[in-house]
Amino acid sequence: MALDTGALGQKQGGGAGQARAPERELIDDCVHCGFCLPTCPTYVNWGEDLDSPRGRIDLMRGLRAGTLEMTPAVAGHFDKCLGCMACVTACPSGVRYDVLIEETRALVERTYARGLFDRLHRAMIFSLFPYPKRLKALVVLLLVYSLSGLQWLLRHTLLPLLPARLREMEALQPKVTAHNLFATLPERVAAQGERRLKVAVIAGCVQRVFNPGVNEATLRVLSAEGCEVVIPRGQGCCGALSMHAGREHESVEFARSLMQMLSGEQVDAIIINAAGCGSHLKDYGRILQTDEARAFSAKVRDVNEFLAALPPRARRHPLQRRVALHDACHLQHAQRIFAQPRQLLAGIPGLTLLEVPDGGQCCGSAGIYNLVEPGSAEQIGARKVDNVLATGADLLASANPGCTMQIQKILRERGQSLPAAHPIEILDASISGTPLP
Ligand code: SF4
Ligand code: SF4
Repeated sequence: MALDTGALGQKQGGGAGQARAPERELIDDCVHCGFCLPTCPTYVNWGEDLDSPRGRIDLMRGLRAGTLEMTPAVAGHFDKCLGCMACVTACPSGVRYDVLIEETRALVERTYARGLFDRLHRAMIFSLFPYPKRLKALVVLLLVYSLSGLQWLLRHTLLPLLPARLREMEALQPKVTAHNLFATLPERVAAQGERRLKVAVIAGCVQRVFNPGVNEATLRVLSAEGCEVVIPRGQGCCGALSMHAGREHESVEFARSLMQMLSGEQVDAIIINAAGCGSHLKDYGRILQTDEARAFSAKVRDVNEFLAALPPRARRHPLQRRVALHDACHLQHAQRIFAQPRQLLAGIPGLTLLEVPDGGQCCGSAGIYNLVEPGSAEQIGARKVDNVLATGADLLASANPGCTMQIQKILRERGQSLPAAHPIEILDASISGTPLP
């Protein structure tokens, strides 16, 4: 493929960060076959090769060889990548695009001088989202904002004049209640009946604050299935958001701290119910390159994966619902977890499981993607919502908080609604015999 080097800028010799561009061997695994192109949401958006996996790998090759420099155009093609990993599962040559883009994002952060507003916007995101206590302070502000009438006033006056990124942030906010503020998790939950396994649960950051019901359902289901559950106190962020945005050092510090928090308990498995976090936790061994990190990662299980492998013990009550299952990218592509949530939901009497057309495509949430690339995220999200609605479902099952927020936001903008729940909340409702919204 001929690179548009005129638009991208030629590099004169070596430069800062060249030593950390992705390894040549990983880059050369790409044989330019193009099988990944139709699976790539940004290629579907614009039909541009440089916004496809193949084109981005070519840019990495240019950076590695020193024939390209990190111009705004080059950095922009990497920024527009969702990190959805649809190209990883589509690639017949086994190209490790996950590793390639992770290393390239770190290179972008080290070598590319972002504009002032971009830096401020990212600084705000990363001083907020990885910190549950700060997110709780945000919940207070959101409660005041929505209950005082300020939200109505802003939406009808100044908001349309604000930059797209700020409008997107405002539109994405989920409905919050006092439960978001005061929900706490116990430190330990006993197994119901004879104990089968002992597990630790990672509470997540956004999950803990914005979807406390998902963690509560996780504890109830694990207990009902005979697991003793520990939820170590003082857990911080797992570092997924930071790593997926190229903030390597910050991410590694989060990872070390979380491993330390969980080191006091001997458990059979470490359970996570947020897809993006799970994929990153399973990567600690590769990232940190220590025996401790490898042992930690080996025990990490997504909650769907864990329960699907555990013969069911708790009785399932019927749920007469038509459920569209949205596959989060970091479940289906990054962790290759596809059959397990289907298996769990299919085990609920009365439930009709519906497949979302083109379900391998991202919803546009992708970590902080919809906060930094709102235009592209909107295009991608609109396709996802069309496909979800085409199922005729009366409930959406989504295993990642970011995906749920993104799909709900687009539905609200269209004046439509579809209740959403994590698969574990649906299973919990069936086991406990309580109705879902
Ligand atoms: S499918 Fe794999 S080998 Fe083919 S172009 Fe895409 S990344 Fe390269
Ligand atoms: S990670 Fe997703 S958006 Fe990025 S190149 Fe691969 S398919 Fe395209």
